[in-house]
Amino acid sequence: MQQPVKIQDSNAVTKHPVHQWPPRALYIHIPFCTNKCFYCDFNSYVAAGQPIDAYLDALENEMKLTVKELPPTSIDTVFVGGGTPTVLTPPQMSRFLAAVRRYFPLADHVEFTMEANPGTTDMAKLQAMREGGVNRISFGAQSFDDGLLAGIGRIHAAQDVVQSIENAKAAGFTNLSIDLMFGLPNQTLQQLTDSVEKALQLDLPHYSLYSLKVEENTLFHRLYERGELPLPEEDVELAMYQHLMERLGEAGYRHYEISNFARSGCESRHNTTYWRNELTTGSGLVRTVTRKANAMSISKACSLISTWRSKLYRVWKRIRSAPRKRWKIS
Ligand code: SF4
Repeated sequence: MQQPVKIQDSNAVTKHPVHQWPPRALYIHIPFCTNKCFYCDFNSYVAAGQPIDAYLDALENEMKLTVKELPPTSIDTVFVGGGTPTVLTPPQMSRFLAAVRRYFPLADHVEFTMEANPGTTDMAKLQAMREGGVNRISFGAQSFDDGLLAGIGRIHAAQDVVQSIENAKAAGFTNLSIDLMFGLPNQTLQQLTDSVEKALQLDLPHYSLYSLKVEENTLFHRLYERGELPLPEEDVELAMYQHLMERLGEAGYRHYEISNFARSGCESRHNTTYWRNELTTGSGLVRTVTRKANAMSISKACSLISTWRSKLYRVWKRIRSAPRKRWKIS
C-alpha cells in the first residue's frame, strides 16, 4: 500500500499517493491474431505472412533499450496482451519469455498473465508458457453459443474453451480467467444466461465480462452505419448486465471493477495497477510507458461508467413515467 504524501507548503495537506518509480508493472504487446474478429479495433494483424520473428527481434531490442533508459528494480505484474500472444509457436514463445526474464527483474511473487485464445493453446505451448514464467492465463471465450461465436468472427467453438481450460489445468495453471461478451448481435438474455452458467461450471477464480462496443474501422461499424447490425435493445442489454452482476455475486465473486469479478484474493493485480493510475512500463506495438497511458485507460473507464449511468438513468425515467398501479385499501 502506498503512503500518502504531504505537500510541502503552508497548506500542507494529505494529497495524492506517491507513484512508485521506477514502474513495477509491465505490459507487452503481441499484435498478431489468427484472424480479425468483426468487432475488433485493437492493434492486431492477421498472423499469416507476418514477419513474426522479426517482430520478436525488434521487441527484444526494445526491451534492452527500455531497461537501459529506465532500469527497473523489480517487476510485480506482467501482462502480455494483443492480439493473441498464443499465436506464437512454442519455440517463439520460449524465446520471447526468456527475453522478458533476461531484461526485467521479476519479483518472486510476480503475477505474470498472458492472454490466450481457445484453440491456440496445445500442451506444448502451455508447457513453454509455464516454463517461461507465465502463471496466469486469460482466455477470450466471449460466449458458449457457437452461433454467436461465428457471428462475431471468433475462430473457436464453445467446446474449445472447455478443452483449453482442461489443458491449462493439466499443465499446472490454477490462476485462470475467461472473458465473456454481452450485447452481441442477435444475442438474447437467455443465451447470455446459458453462457454464464457454463462459464461458472468451469469453476475459475476470475471472470471478465464486457459489453460490445461498436468501434470505428471494424466490420461491425460498417454494418451499424448501414442499419444492418441487429444489436439487442438497450433494455435487454441492461438486463444482461444486471443478470451478470447478480449471478456472479450469488456465486461468490466480488465485482471489483466494472468488467471484472473475482474470488477474494484472485483479483488481477495488473488491472488494479491501471485503476490506481500507477506507473506502467511496456514494450511492443502499443507501448505504454507513463501514467498518461494509464490515464487513457481511466478515461475509457469513465466513458463506460457514464454510458451505463445514462442508460440506467433512461430506464429509471421510463419506470418513473410508466402508469402506476393504484392500490386500493379497503
Ligand atoms: S482475437 Fe482479440 S485481438 Fe485478435 S482480432 Fe479477435 S478481438 Fe481482436
